[in-house]
Amino acid sequence: MTVSPFERKLVGIFPRSRFHSERRLLASLMQLYPVDFSPEGEVGFDQMDAAVFFSDENLLSSRAFEQGVSSFVFRRSSKTIGLEANASVSFSDHHIIHPAFRNARITLGSANQAAELNPAEGDSTVALCDSLRLWLFRSNGSAELHTVATELPTVESLLWEYLRPDGWLAPLPLLHFLRRVTADIGWSPAPQRACFMFDDPNLHTARYGYLDYASLAAHARVHNYHVAIATVPLDAWYAGRRAVDVFHGNPERLSLLIHGNDHTRNELGCACTDGDALRRLAQALRRVARFERKTGLRVERVIAPPHGGCSESVLAQAPRVAIEALCTSAAPLARCLNQTRLPLDFGLLPAWFGPGNCPVIRRWDLVYGLMPLRLAAFLDQPIIAYGHHRDCAEGFGQLAEIANQVNTWSETAWTNMGTILRGNYRIKRDTELMHVQMCSRHVHVPVPEGVSHVAVHADSAPGRISVASSDGPAEECTPGVPFHVTSPRSLRLRMRSFEAIDPVTVRPPAYRVWPSVRRALSMGRDRLLPIVRNSRPSVAVEFHSAKLAGNQRQ
Ligand SMILES: [Zn+2]
Repeated sequence: MTVSPFERKLVGIFPRSRFHSERRLLASLMQLYPVDFSPEGEVGFDQMDAAVFFSDENLLSSRAFEQGVSSFVFRRSSKTIGLEANASVSFSDHHIIHPAFRNARITLGSANQAAELNPAEGDSTVALCDSLRLWLFRSNGSAELHTVATELPTVESLLWEYLRPDGWLAPLPLLHFLRRVTADIGWSPAPQRACFMFDDPNLHTARYGYLDYASLAAHARVHNYHVAIATVPLDAWYAGRRAVDVFHGNPERLSLLIHGNDHTRNELGCACTDGDALRRLAQALRRVARFERKTGLRVERVIAPPHGGCSESVLAQAPRVAIEALCTSAAPLARCLNQTRLPLDFGLLPAWFGPGNCPVIRRWDLVYGLMPLRLAAFLDQPIIAYGHHRDCAEGFGQLAEIANQVNTWSETAWTNMGTILRGNYRIKRDTELMHVQMCSRHVHVPVPEGVSHVAVHADSAPGRISVASSDGPAEECTPGVPFHVTSPRSLRLRMRSFEAIDPVTVRPPAYRVWPSVRRALSMGRDRLLPIVRNSRPSVAVEFHSAKLAGNQRQ
């Protein structure tokens, strides 16, 4: 079977000067979508699939649109209107908007300027702020014309930093446009997956601070969500019978993953040697394995690093001890890494593969509410909102509200991190050939009827990938080269680690008293909190303030 190269669309950039001044933005978009850009004057409208107009003084966009070229226009105006950071943008239910944004009313998060848009006959308003129109859309059957009222700031760092709860208005419509332009040739996402994650709790008793596990499981069952508890391996020396029973009785609603090792300050984010990183990870896994033997509970081999940071050494060593992924926020992770080596699409794909081919999955602080979860859904990422027990000081109502919303965007599997990772892939069909892009190290992919060959893609070129169907032995495949399959069936694809090592054989780090003392103090504080009732205000479902922007909670 021959494999044709992946198709790409050609998008004209107007005016020509912006092709150069926006080169970082355009290079980022080329990573994110199958598009190439061409400056004004290089090719005619008849050779373009679409066009982006950073300014449109000559009304060229109307001509492009009339000639069947879908166009996107940043409307400029000498008179702009200021939008306050706490202003809200209302989206319509127009079908061109991703379901996560339809009918949504979202706080801007940072001040903006908008031009005045005057709709013509045939224009639909897609987004507005009070009575000010921000995004107009029209279609003539063969092309689309999108006009937005805001200008895009020149992208000087990485694109993910311009797409956050505290600043998202300008890039979002442009990404929508490119997603639509490439819808027929781009990757299709796996079904939507989600979970809530709470950092720090352990199973010493059936309750940790404001989290009563039995009540949480019952609430999650009623409102159809899942909670993954990121527990500290240092705490795993003991588990109370009642807590263990609740987790055994509710595997669909409660699960466990790894939160650091000792939970000392930024313990996985600080610079260390590969040897130190390996010793810490191996100790965490030995502690977790002992806990599993004693309790019969599974702890997913996924690490949520305390304080969010993770060094290159930890990322490089994690797959060696069969850690499947890291799950953290983009900002603290980026601070720990060499920024110049981060790819332009960092944080915007279903996963980023770091050193050692360790996948990193993004998660978002509950304090931001729904907005970043909408972005995650839009970017085909798993939807993961994390917090701490004190976020539930006033009950679990916010979890139900968020889950109810997320469940309206798409059919969502609320599940543990292991299952989320198994479903982290994208596919592309080329009649009988199905391309699979692995977005974690181990995925389960259903092969639908009519598919005779599968080609596996892994951007980070991991070398060896093993393929097994549920009823057959594992074989190796070469990335990008199709192999024969009989369908329908399910394939299990797994990246092999070159230098796998058994944690039991790794020497432990030097013993220190401080981590146990520090952890005991933190646990005491967390357990006392509900008793002294020093609760913080409940978390809003929508984000109303930028005060926590950039801060990472423990
Ligand atoms: Zn923590």
